[in-house]
Amino acid sequence: MHNFSTLKEFLEEPRKVVIIPHTKPDADAIGSALGLSWYLRKDEHITTVLSPNDYPSFLHWMPGHEEVVVYDKEKPEISETIIEEADVIVCVDFSSLSRIEELGPLVRNSISKKTIVMIDHHRGKEEFADYELWDIDAAAAAQLIYEFIDLDEGIQKIDQRIAACLYAGLITDTGSFKFPSVSSRTLRIAASLKDTGLDTARIYNLIYDNNTETRLRFLGYALGENLTFWPELNTGYFTVSQDDRERFKLQSGDTEGLVNYALSVNGIKIAALFKEKDERDGIKVSFRSIGDFSVADLSAEHFNGGGHKNAAGGRIDGITIDEAVAKFKKVLQEKLK
Ligand code: 5GP
Ligand code: MN
Repeated sequence: MHNFSTLKEFLEEPRKVVIIPHTKPDADAIGSALGLSWYLRKDEHITTVLSPNDYPSFLHWMPGHEEVVVYDKEKPEISETIIEEADVIVCVDFSSLSRIEELGPLVRNSISKKTIVMIDHHRGKEEFADYELWDIDAAAAAQLIYEFIDLDEGIQKIDQRIAACLYAGLITDTGSFKFPSVSSRTLRIAASLKDTGLDTARIYNLIYDNNTETRLRFLGYALGENLTFWPELNTGYFTVSQDDRERFKLQSGDTEGLVNYALSVNGIKIAALFKEKDERDGIKVSFRSIGDFSVADLSAEHFNGGGHKNAAGGRIDGITIDEAVAKFKKVLQEKLK
């Protein structure tokens, strides 16, 4: 981080810090935010984690979850006040203000009025922060929170609570340490978190072994009925319609990980998941790839999104799910020519 010493000096006095994860936070976003929050509290800072919206219940075990403030459209003044009163805003696991919904304009208005820190590993960075810890090669934002703590010479302050939050981010963003983004540093950080006495098997269980019966049935249904392959394009994709959502009473997070099943098939290098009316109208798309094909570019160029080379997402409005799939096919045919 360029200029870290200036930030360190600023943080020598207790500050009011608001920490913001990206929209629909996943374990890495919310775990990184909470881990950093617990760390900063050790130095008497007053911290609030402010989320653009709710997150799945399988993350509610995270220490500090009860205190997370979720942006409320009915009462925007709560979030406005938190941001107004803050000295420091830390943006975690995103680097474009379009990734925090209604909080985006509030942070934008704070530029040059407040100290803004951004800690992220996504492509497509915007310039809005005074301090950036940005590394697209980092396997998880949680890895960068650890690096931040390391820069701050605070590794010995990492307790099991902080470790649990950061470890959750590491395992989920690396697919349990199986993605190419895993470096020896990632594994050393995991080992260092384990050294706090952390029960890593418990964290794994909390995140992955919490299916409801309906969710498991939905998985069977989606694998059977909603998965299509285009072998000539080395591609497979899922669709989830509004009817499916109602039939299986899908909750936020219930389609998490689904897209990866398509990639597990021999020869499939690109996978997508199209969801109708996820959160709001329009089609939400998730992309995954194996190897050099950048779904981040595909998403940025054609689906108003972004992300990482091998995992990205986007959204298109005013289009049916079939039209979104057709567009995807056309774009792939052009790109893979
Ligand atoms: P997921 O498919 O799990 O929702 O997201 C995969 C990756 O793509 C994540 O790193 C996420 O941050 C990024 N991503 C997902 N949706 C969007 C989007 O609408 N815009 C951008 N810029 N990135 C996204
Ligand atoms: Mn992440």
